Amino acid sequence: MPKGRIIKLTGGNYYVNDGENIYKCRGRGRFRNENISPKVGDICEFQVENVNEGYILELEERRNDLVRPSIVNVDQAIIITSCKDPDFSTNLLDRFLVLTEFNNIESILIFSKEDLVSDEEMCQITDYKKYYESIGYTVYLTSPENNLVNDQIKSHFKDKLSVIVGQSGVGKSTLLNAIDSSLELKTGETSKALGRGRHTTRHTEFIDVAGGLVADTPGFSNLEFLDMELVDLKHNMLEIFEFSHSCKYRGCNHLDEPKCAVKKAVEDNEIAVYRYDNYKKFYEEIKSKKPRY
Ligand code: ZN
Repeated sequence: MPKGRIIKLTGGNYYVNDGENIYKCRGRGRFRNENISPKVGDICEFQVENVNEGYILELEERRNDLVRPSIVNVDQAIIITSCKDPDFSTNLLDRFLVLTEFNNIESILIFSKEDLVSDEEMCQITDYKKYYESIGYTVYLTSPENNLVNDQIKSHFKDKLSVIVGQSGVGKSTLLNAIDSSLELKTGETSKALGRGRHTTRHTEFIDVAGGLVADTPGFSNLEFLDMELVDLKHNMLEIFEFSHSCKYRGCNHLDEPKCAVKKAVEDNEIAVYRYDNYKKFYEEIKSKKPRY
């Protein structure tokens, strides 16, 4: 039975790419009866009926299932943070990281616009890079002209389904153009280029980038921790979770509790102060969110 990935959903039809061709498929009636909705990103088995048409038989188990944007089986998030213009924001970066960890998506960090920073500012950026590497992330520092690094970034796209994440103005389109020259995405209008039609259609589509697929959406357009509980926050900041195993109290919130290994690690410079400050901010945010019913 042929297998492929649903890359587009429109008018009740699922467009399935098997790596060579795209088939316009219908879902089986069974899906409706069992209340299963195939989604963009799903890996499916399908039956070919006509030359380029068919119907979907089975869906594979999903690795993740995002609500905003509505997409499943994302392999990785490429998180872009600019060194300058807009200023480097650890708050936004950590917010994206909590969300990607929570959704079981691997993250690759790109610090863009390295060409805009002074030597002094570069020290701070380099410190950030070292820190995020030390807690387990792959980090690239680059600019559109840095072909060496952009080629390394390019190698991450092949055969993967990626979402590109970052606030507007960090250079998403410029970066994608630099790593795949066949793209010619409009720049200077980042949100329009990548989030094309997001106000006119709910449907997610993909663009081909360097042998992989990139979701043509702004990605995590909603940065609130709507679906998260406090325990999810504690589990999804990697180094804080690591140190929490040594806290005296199970369920320690790492705020005012005695013998808290996380606070000790902050004092000993093993956890960055800004990471801990962001943790406390996110904690308050989740704690104070209104119940949704
Ligand atoms: Zn603690």
